[in-house]
Amino acid sequence: MRQIHHFVNGEALAGTSGRFGDVFNPNTGEVQARVDLASAAELDAAAQAAARAQVGWAAVNPQRRARVMFEFKRLVEARMDELAGLLSSEHGKVIADSKGDIQRGLEVIEFACGIPHVLKGEYTEGAGPGIDVYSMRQPLGVCAGITPFNFPAMIPMWMFGIAVAVGNTFILKPSEKDPSVPVRLAELFMEAGAPAGVLNVVHGDKAAVDAILTHPLVRAVSFVGSSDIASYVYSTGAAHGKRVQAMGGAKNHGVILPDADLDHAVKDLIGAAYGSAGERCMALPVVVPVGARTADALKDKVLAEIDSLKVGISTDPAAQYGPVVSAAHKKRVEDYIQLGADEGAELVVDGRGFALQGYEKGFFIGPTLFDHVTRDMKTYQEEIFGPVLQIVRADSFEEALALPSEHPYGNGVAIYTRNGRAAREFASRVNVGMVGINVPIPVPVAYHTFGGWKRSAFGDTNQHGVEGVKFYTKVKTITARWPEGAVEDSAFVIPTMK
Ligand code: NAD
Repeated sequence: MRQIHHFVNGEALAGTSGRFGDVFNPNTGEVQARVDLASAAELDAAAQAAARAQVGWAAVNPQRRARVMFEFKRLVEARMDELAGLLSSEHGKVIADSKGDIQRGLEVIEFACGIPHVLKGEYTEGAGPGIDVYSMRQPLGVCAGITPFNFPAMIPMWMFGIAVAVGNTFILKPSEKDPSVPVRLAELFMEAGAPAGVLNVVHGDKAAVDAILTHPLVRAVSFVGSSDIASYVYSTGAAHGKRVQAMGGAKNHGVILPDADLDHAVKDLIGAAYGSAGERCMALPVVVPVGARTADALKDKVLAEIDSLKVGISTDPAAQYGPVVSAAHKKRVEDYIQLGADEGAELVVDGRGFALQGYEKGFFIGPTLFDHVTRDMKTYQEEIFGPVLQIVRADSFEEALALPSEHPYGNGVAIYTRNGRAAREFASRVNVGMVGINVPIPVPVAYHTFGGWKRSAFGDTNQHGVEGVKFYTKVKTITARWPEGAVEDSAFVIPTMK
């Protein structure tokens, strides 16, 4: 059986903890590899290697570090097919979607190619008599990233792309469910010219995460995953003196006003609700049509689309989405479907029991649709993370605005309308971090920044863009004077500008 090892100090490192995780092929349900699960000792080896590499790496001038990013981007692009195939085989998303996962990560690498410009500090000449003030951004040291299964290429690149470009070294703890692509990325990063120890990959579960959160050499931790664990990572990391950003789960709403272009909205909605089997933190699992006429028309069109939706194995080019990631996750989603029916929502299309000929043991779930879901239902309040779309009917703009605003999660939201004023007001007032106007999955481009509100993010700084640079650097401000002439008397009061 294929064994997936850690990658530390520029080479594969076999696990010594004696603990392993199974890596499945979600299409067939078979175990295809075993991944090492690290102990605190293995994490310590990575932290020591990263700390040894950091001083030299920070001293490399930013333009040379940027050249490594350029070369890394070229290498990843050249291996796009290989990486996408590997990603799909462990995650279950279709190949085109895996390429999108890698491409969105590369866009952060492109942003990092411009790091010399972004790192330029500020300078004030003559802040006082003969006094100049300047500030610079310096790396933190060893940083770590803990990532979820659903974007095994993009989210690691969100993190190490910026952390490393600004002069830190990095330990990536990817999801143990699909760990192969992160290792390939680290190998390619070395091939691109990064010295050993700059980017390390340590696989594992809670034990590895706890070792990161308590390790004295780790200065900052970026986490993306579910909210309860994000909250735990945030509080534990902060209690150990680390800078932490921790992105959590989501339950994004798509609001459809009566004047929306319904055909356009439904096409977008189907892709955003069912694409990647709903396993996206920016999926749209809730649609909020305003008014009964809008709701009825929307439901008919969604049903027609579901009829022609093709679910298949991740390598089938005709498939629109593939299996979910694991048998446990499949059961969890199916339990939510049962709960939704028990809670009194109308189960219009039931995706349970979906079977694909020849792949009966695969983790497939058919597209599922609920209507008349209400805000008090547990299945509305909680994240399902599967191919399940819930219609929550609203009577007015204000009611539709209140639903995402008052929901515990606040990652993304979308509004469909032809009315610019209504869209503008919605975007301004909604209590959610990322808003799409006639855009279903408003994941901001790499040079803007990604982050939700409420239970979707813990900490103050977002992922990537200038916010990412701020997260991975600290500011130093220098006040300088070069005195000449007679020695002045000592001053016993705080200096002020007269
Ligand atoms: P998860 O929370 O189960 O795992 C995330 C990471 O935490 C993994 O590396 C995992 O090994 C580790 N982990 C698991 N259990 C742990 C524990 N008890 N203690 C410490 N660490 C632990 O999430 P997942 O199932 O891999 O990913 C799906 C979740 O991620 C969804 O909730 C989704 O909304 C969220 N997500 C959020 C964003 C965002 O940017 N807000 C992006 C992608 C995914």
